[in-house]
Amino acid sequence: MRTSSETADAVVVGGGTIGGWCAWFLRRAGLERVVVVERATLGRGASSRAAGMVRSQGGTQWAVKLGMWSRDFYESQSYELGLDSGFVAQGYLMPAFSEAQVATGRARVAMQQELGLEVSWLSCAEADSLYPAMAPGSHLGGSYAPGDGWIDPARNVLAYATALVSDGVELRERTEFLGLRLAPDGASVLGVDTSSGPISSDRVVLTGGPELAAVGERAGVRITAGGTRHQVAVTEPHPAVAPDRLGMVFDIAEGLYWRPEEGGVLFGMSNPDEPPGPAREVDWPYMKQIRGRLAELLPITGDLGLRRVWAATIDYTPDHLPILGPALRPDGTAIGGVTVASAGGHGMMWGPAVARVAADLALEGSSGVLDVSELGLGRFDSEGRSRLDPDPIALPFPERTSVQ
Ligand SMILES: Cc1cc2nc3c(=O)[nH]c(=O)nc-3n(C[C@H](O)[C@H](O)[C@H](O)COP(=O)(O)OP(=O)(O)OC[C@H]3O[C@@H](n4cnc5c(N)ncnc54)[C@H](O)[C@@H]3O)c2cc1C
Repeated sequence: MRTSSETADAVVVGGGTIGGWCAWFLRRAGLERVVVVERATLGRGASSRAAGMVRSQGGTQWAVKLGMWSRDFYESQSYELGLDSGFVAQGYLMPAFSEAQVATGRARVAMQQELGLEVSWLSCAEADSLYPAMAPGSHLGGSYAPGDGWIDPARNVLAYATALVSDGVELRERTEFLGLRLAPDGASVLGVDTSSGPISSDRVVLTGGPELAAVGERAGVRITAGGTRHQVAVTEPHPAVAPDRLGMVFDIAEGLYWRPEEGGVLFGMSNPDEPPGPAREVDWPYMKQIRGRLAELLPITGDLGLRRVWAATIDYTPDHLPILGPALRPDGTAIGGVTVASAGGHGMMWGPAVARVAADLALEGSSGVLDVSELGLGRFDSEGRSRLDPDPIALPFPERTSVQ
C-alpha cells in the first residue's frame, strides 16, 4: 500500500528474482523503507518463464561461487522463510563428446573441487548406470555434481513475493522507472522518477533482466546486457524418464539441456545463430532440429509428444558473466549510490547470490559473498566487448548485445 512519504532508504528497480531477492536482503539488513518499482507485476519478466536449472558447475571461480551460495540459499529457504523455491537436488551431468572436451572438463572439475564443490569425473559406463534413460555409450564421460538440481520458477516468484510482503517491503507494481535524479554535479543519486511520481533515496539498485540495457538508458548509464530468444519444451510423461532414471544433462556444444518434469522431460535450447532481440514466437524448425539431437541422447523422447512449449526472452551478457557494480557515467566515474545487477542469463542458478551481492554493494560497497571488483560495467569497452574471458559453461548466446 502507498504511504504518504515519498522517501525510501532504498529503491530497487525491477521485480524479477534479482530485484525481488535484493530488496528482501536490503530489508533484512535493517533498512526501514525499501521500495520495489516494477513496471508490470512481480516475476512477469524472465523469472517466471525460466527452466529452473540450478548448477554450481561453472567455468569460472565466480560462477562456481555464485552457484554454490545460491544452492545453499535454496536449501535453507524453508527453514529461514517458511516457503521455499521448490529446489530439488537431482545431480547434473555435463558429458564430453571429444577428447578435447574431456581434457577441459577434467581441468574444470579440478578447479571446482578446489573451491569446495562436490563434483567428480564419471566414466561413460558409470554415467550410464546412473542414467538408464540415456543412450548407452553416447559420450566419453562427464563431470557430475550430485548437489546440482532445479527450482520451480513460479514457486520462486511466490517465495520472494511472500517474503517481501511479510517483511514489509513496499511494492510499486505497474509503476515504471523513468530515470534517476542526480545531485547537481551528477556524482551521486538523490532519487528516482517513476510513472507514479518521484521517490527520494540515496540508494538505488537497477535490475531489468532482458531489458536492463533500456533501464540503463533511462538512467543515463550504458549497460552491456541483452535479451534473446530461448526455448523450452516439456514432453508427455513416460515411465522410462521417471526422475530415478533421468538426471539433468547439459550438452554444452549443442546448447541443449534437460531435467525431469512432472513425469516427462523438460528440455531447453539456445540457437547459436539467434540474433539479439525479444522472443516473439516459437522457432519450430530449430525445435525440430534440437529434438533430433535429444532423441540421439535420450532415445525414448523421439516418440514422446510435447505438452508444453514456450519461447521467452532471456537476459545475457557477452561474456556470460554477471554484472555487479556501480552505475557509471559516460566518463567512467561511478554514480554514488547506484548499483547495477544482472545474472547474465543465470538468474535461477545464481539469482540469490547475485541479489545478495547487489544488496551488499548498495549497503557497504563490497560483498563477503564474492570479490566482484572485476565484474562491473568497466570491463566493457565502447563496442560492448568484455576484457574478461567468457565463462565457457554457458548457452550459445549472441556475442553482441544489439544487432550490428
Ligand atoms: C526460457 C528461459 C529459460 C531460462 N532458464 C534458466 C535456467 O534454467 N537457469 C537459470 O539460471 N536461468 C534461466 N533463465 C534466465 C533467468 O530466468 C534470468 O536470468 C532471471 O530470471 C533474470 O532475473 P531478473 O530479475 O534480472 O530479470 P526479470 O525476471 O526479467 O525481471 C526484470 C523486471 O524488470 C522489470 N522492468 C523492466 N523495465 C522496467 C522499468 N523501466 N521500470 C520498472 N520495471 C522494469 C520487468 O517488468 C521485469 O519484471 C531462463 C530464462 C528464460 C527466458
